[in-house]
Amino acid sequence: MSILAAHAQDLAQLAERDRLRGLFPRAGVDFASNDYLGLATSDRLRDAVAEAVARGVAVGSGGSRLLRGNDPEHDALEIEAAAFFGSEAALYFSSGYAANAALIGTLPQRGDLVVHDALIHASAHEGIRLGRAEAVAAAHNDPQGFDDAIGAWRARGGTGRAWIAVESLYSMDGDRAPLDDLAAVAARHDAFLLIDEAHASGVFGHDGRGLAADLEGRENVITLRTCGKALGCEGALVCGPRVVRDFLVNRGRGFIFSTAPSPLMASAVRAALRILADEPERRERLHALVAYAERVLAPHGVAPTGSQILPLVLGDDTTTMRVAGAVQAAGYDVRGIRPPTVPAGSSRLRISVTLNASQADVDGLAQAIGAALA
Ligand code: PMP
Repeated sequence: MSILAAHAQDLAQLAERDRLRGLFPRAGVDFASNDYLGLATSDRLRDAVAEAVARGVAVGSGGSRLLRGNDPEHDALEIEAAAFFGSEAALYFSSGYAANAALIGTLPQRGDLVVHDALIHASAHEGIRLGRAEAVAAAHNDPQGFDDAIGAWRARGGTGRAWIAVESLYSMDGDRAPLDDLAAVAARHDAFLLIDEAHASGVFGHDGRGLAADLEGRENVITLRTCGKALGCEGALVCGPRVVRDFLVNRGRGFIFSTAPSPLMASAVRAALRILADEPERRERLHALVAYAERVLAPHGVAPTGSQILPLVLGDDTTTMRVAGAVQAAGYDVRGIRPPTVPAGSSRLRISVTLNASQADVDGLAQAIGAALA
């Protein structure tokens, strides 16, 4: 069999198991995006980009940051982001995926141990694959599990540094990491704490600085703040000690050998940070809508998470895709999430509450889910 025939067979098997993925046009009310604050299409962000175009900011960077691609917009963004989030320094990447891969793939060294949460994002796994450190999963949100993993590694003779990798708000479950307890584990073992704030930045904390804002600035804390979610833009900021930034500039292959992000996008992210500080009412409206959605969706089996990510775990893939299809047909864009994105047997609708939806939309969504489950 030719390799392409083998690929086609693989796809056919995915389809048989209701696991085939496809690219669909966006349609219906948004309960699927990560544009939590509705900034992606906001007038203020669009105006900021128009203003940047008018003052001559380049569309393309023209090359790697280390060659000619370094633009004043990148530097300005990184200075502003470090001040905003409270870190010593920041470095802007083209995507959170690239940033996570570089971060986890570059900082831990051979002889080190990465202990990651069992539900950590695929991009963190990419970093683990790229890097030379040993890696082990700890049970989800179980600080004792992290502590035990590091203890067991030391008992086996591990002498390097330990790195704890978690998300502050889990992308598919909407629950929060016990960051204070994890920080205590890190302190006990002289470990680093890598916190992916992808889904918390912009949504939680003073001015939207995230759930790790109180830990930011510590020498052993590094955060990842993606810009394509609540910030409504694209790219990601790694925030942490200056030496981490400089190390990634010198050793991060995904940073070195890749064209710098669009300077226009960098200026848009700067504008988004200002909007986060200037318009707290966006966060207030979002949290009120989340509380409303939790109430209205509870009778349909959606457990409250206290965050804008509300999963409806249905278990098997076929049911999940059937319910997602019915809800989409009713005009609400909710996506079914299947393995390998989530563990086998935990397929779900990932309901994402954003300011692109209203209370009436939430009512309609609840009705559509109820009808689909009946
Ligand atoms: N980390 C987490 C927790 C994410 O959910 C995502 C995106 N789904 C990423 C990293 C990757 O970020 P980006 O989309 O900017 O590549």
